[in-house]
Amino acid sequence: MSERSGIGYDSHRLVEGRPLILGGVVIEEARRGLAGHSDGDALTHAIIDALLGAAGLGDIGQHFPDTDERYAGADSVELLAEVNGFLNEHGWRVDHLDATVICEAPRLSPHRDEMRVALGHAVGLDAREVNVKFATNEGMGAIGRGEGIAALAVATLDRTG
Ligand code: MG
Repeated sequence: MSERSGIGYDSHRLVEGRPLILGGVVIEEARRGLAGHSDGDALTHAIIDALLGAAGLGDIGQHFPDTDERYAGADSVELLAEVNGFLNEHGWRVDHLDATVICEAPRLSPHRDEMRVALGHAVGLDAREVNVKFATNEGMGAIGRGEGIAALAVATLDRTG
């Protein structure tokens, strides 16, 4: 069976007055949330780009332009499910996801399993096939100062046909 991998990266600025949503999970204890045309879920956006990269099908901006009013406030996990359907139509099945979120605060590890379930559900994977890791930037640079949150992802796909 032929396999492909793709990488994804995203970052969003932290602002007052928005909920923090990562991997489809609302982080209730966060004081600020991620700015963006959609819900700002940088983790899910990085995964979408990794999937599209593995399939050779472009990037998130081509499929969900931030100039399109249909995606204002969009639930990014719903967009992820839509991308999964698109990959399936092109003969791909998601095999595994791995991601790292780079965030100074709050501590995200208590939400890890809930993110794995939500992300896995969107792409038809068991949570065991979805790995989510957390790192800080050790106080360095914009992410280290808490100005935003970044995420990296690697997706592996299998050819179905
Ligand atoms: Mg984004």
